Amino acid sequence: MSLADDLATLRASARDRLSAATSADAVEALRHELLGRSGELTMLLRSLGTAPEGERPALGRVANEVRGEIEAAINGRLETLRGEDLERRLSDEALDMSAPGSPVRVGHLHPVMTLMRDLREIFHAFGFEVYEGPEIETDEYNFELLNIPPDHPARDLWDTLYVAEPGSVEAGDPRPAVDGTILRTHTSPVQVRAMRALDLPIRVITPGRCFRYEAVDASHGFEFHQIEGLVIDRDTSLADLKGMLEEIARPLYGRDTRTRFRPGYYPFTEPSVAFDVACLVCGGPGCAACGRTGWMTILGAGMVHPEVIRSGGFDPDEVQGYAFGLGPDRMTMLRHGIGDIRLFFSADLRFVTQFPEGR
Ligand SMILES: [Zn+2]
Repeated sequence: MSLADDLATLRASARDRLSAATSADAVEALRHELLGRSGELTMLLRSLGTAPEGERPALGRVANEVRGEIEAAINGRLETLRGEDLERRLSDEALDMSAPGSPVRVGHLHPVMTLMRDLREIFHAFGFEVYEGPEIETDEYNFELLNIPPDHPARDLWDTLYVAEPGSVEAGDPRPAVDGTILRTHTSPVQVRAMRALDLPIRVITPGRCFRYEAVDASHGFEFHQIEGLVIDRDTSLADLKGMLEEIARPLYGRDTRTRFRPGYYPFTEPSVAFDVACLVCGGPGCAACGRTGWMTILGAGMVHPEVIRSGGFDPDEVQGYAFGLGPDRMTMLRHGIGDIRLFFSADLRFVTQFPEGR
């Protein structure tokens, strides 16, 4: 029998065998049998070399035609089987097109993010815009420009995480990077960045993450959030600050919330104050949550120190301003009665899903 006859036989048999295949698996097996590396067509093509030279081009053409036909027949058969399968499932009612779909799980914001977004809305109503700064800072912006020179005792308040010199950690001798690169210990460096970038009047809030080398416990994390507020203008006073904070406490803690100012200390404000609201747990008489004082401190604030105004590129004799810093983590703990700050960074959905947005 000649190669031409063999090809004709294969052509006919492939067609019959494919129409007899009743599953996708059977079709795939046939694909292997017919077209695989040692498949029937491949074997015939190998014997092409033994055919008379004059006939080879014509035989080659026929072989290619047969391959194309078989491939098309395989794809057609698979298509048909898929259609039949769908029809069968529909008629069996195994697939009920009218049944409700399975619910898609939609995520939501972390409770701290929800609170920060709420704060952003409140401050927006007071004309504040959001101004963000880098989480990796220089010693200059984090300390020096904020009136905290290298020998200032206030530096002891913050255990700073330094970014190591490249390669020094692997070498077992981590040295702080020469340019004093650190993870910012507060959002205050953004005060100077905002003053240098923006025109008067400046009215910004600077939400973001901060980092300190803390012994981690239920109320301290090495990673936490702050929202800093900054107002710089030609005619601002401590009275403006007090009035605004009292207005902001209302939407946060209720219309009748009692508030108070008391002296505080920060190197970058002068004078500095702490802003308290009546205890959110006991409302005044004193309890364990407020240390029996009846008050809870919700933020620190003050008039921006003249040195910091100067760092920002303004003349402190001409402009003044005030700044305040809030702790969104603690505020979120109070809002929801959460007892352990470590839960915020636990990445545990069982925790996060307890606080859907809008609560
Ligand atoms: Zn209390």
